[in-house]
Amino acid sequence: MKGLLRERVNRSLFGLALAAAALGSTVLASVSGVLVLQATLQDAEKHASALERDLSGSLTSFQPIYEVQRQLQMAASSRELRSALLLDRKGRVLAASDNAVVGRNVRQLTSADGLGDLPQHLQLCFSARVSRGFCQGQRATSLVDGPFPLIGGDHMIRVLPTPLALEGLPAFGQEGLLVIEMDLQPLVGQAARLTGLVFLAGLLPLFLTAGALVLVVRRQVLPELLSLAQTDSLSGVLNRRAFLEAASQRLALPGVGEQAWVVALIDIDHFKTINDTYGHAAGDEVIRRMADYLHSAVRRGDLVGRLGGDEFALLVGASASQAYDLLDRLRQRVASHRWTLADGREPQLSLSIGMVECGSGGRRQLGELLQAADAALYVAKDQGRNQVMDLERSHPKGWTMQPA
Ligand code: GH3
Ligand code: MG
Repeated sequence: MKGLLRERVNRSLFGLALAAAALGSTVLASVSGVLVLQATLQDAEKHASALERDLSGSLTSFQPIYEVQRQLQMAASSRELRSALLLDRKGRVLAASDNAVVGRNVRQLTSADGLGDLPQHLQLCFSARVSRGFCQGQRATSLVDGPFPLIGGDHMIRVLPTPLALEGLPAFGQEGLLVIEMDLQPLVGQAARLTGLVFLAGLLPLFLTAGALVLVVRRQVLPELLSLAQTDSLSGVLNRRAFLEAASQRLALPGVGEQAWVVALIDIDHFKTINDTYGHAAGDEVIRRMADYLHSAVRRGDLVGRLGGDEFALLVGASASQAYDLLDRLRQRVASHRWTLADGREPQLSLSIGMVECGSGGRRQLGELLQAADAALYVAKDQGRNQVMDLERSHPKGWTMQPA
């Protein structure tokens, strides 16, 4: 029984340790992933504004537009920049990292022009209906976009209104928009890889910590809890549930056919009278001492349990005749023993015992064996108590149980 329950508890403790480690590691990895993502986004923003500063400086240096065009193309050759555009206030592309869109109006560009969803976002800059948010007003704005914008997105669009003083522009000092689109995919990928690494790195130490806790629980707390869960609090022998589980386990062990087993039910005769005559506390003392007596009468591998009230059960690893002798000796000793109670009084005790050998009449299941032992106990009571009854022995030609 102890083994069985211990195995179950150990399995669930191991599962709990694993789940706690996985959960802890996931939380750790998620938090560090978000922090890393925030930091890399800040880095990307810094990088983008440095680029903007460089480019916008040259937009008022009265240089030719083709020079600006060359600078935008050079900037876009870096891995982080997807595209760069210079628009006038009407939305016309004055210069771009992609030659093909120069001279066109951003409102006419579509995703087929190789700029992804950039034109779609930029159209907001020229829509009178939107007055706040991305690309509105005279200040720099940025937008992080992608399949999961909440955790970083995969690209960032920045728009900077800037004065233009370039050779070849019709009007001097007109306003324009410098647009750059940063590729965040490598940064997000880096953060995801780091999150995965933190998860894996956290798993082992967290599992070891949880495992150490489980070990402490198993070594120190579990034995006490198991013993409490399995022991009958009054008598100190196995309680009903523990006895039934342990006995079933024994009978189901492989090779049990070669080992003879006997199930016995033991009931104190006229126990009610003991309670009535000597009091309930004396009755308790009798139950306690009877349990000790039974425990000392059987061998180490045998099981003793209290099924309830004044009824005990034994699982004895012996043949029917050996067990009968053992039980009858026990009965005689109980009947002749001087049971001196704590207050000095001496009740007369005797036992009725019903026994059955495993396999007799084809009975091998614990439930069937207990039923047969109960039938034998009933006959022992009926025939005058203070006796051991084995119905196989007293009815060698066979017997059947009658429904009550
Ligand atoms: P029989 O010979 O037929 O067994 O007669 P009996 O008086 O022993 O009858 P039975 O076995 O039915 O009575 C059991 C009694 O045990 C009834 C109940 O009051 C008493 N009892 C049950 N549990 C406890 C207990 O924990 N402590 C005490 N003191 N008495 C108990
Ligand atoms: Mg009784």
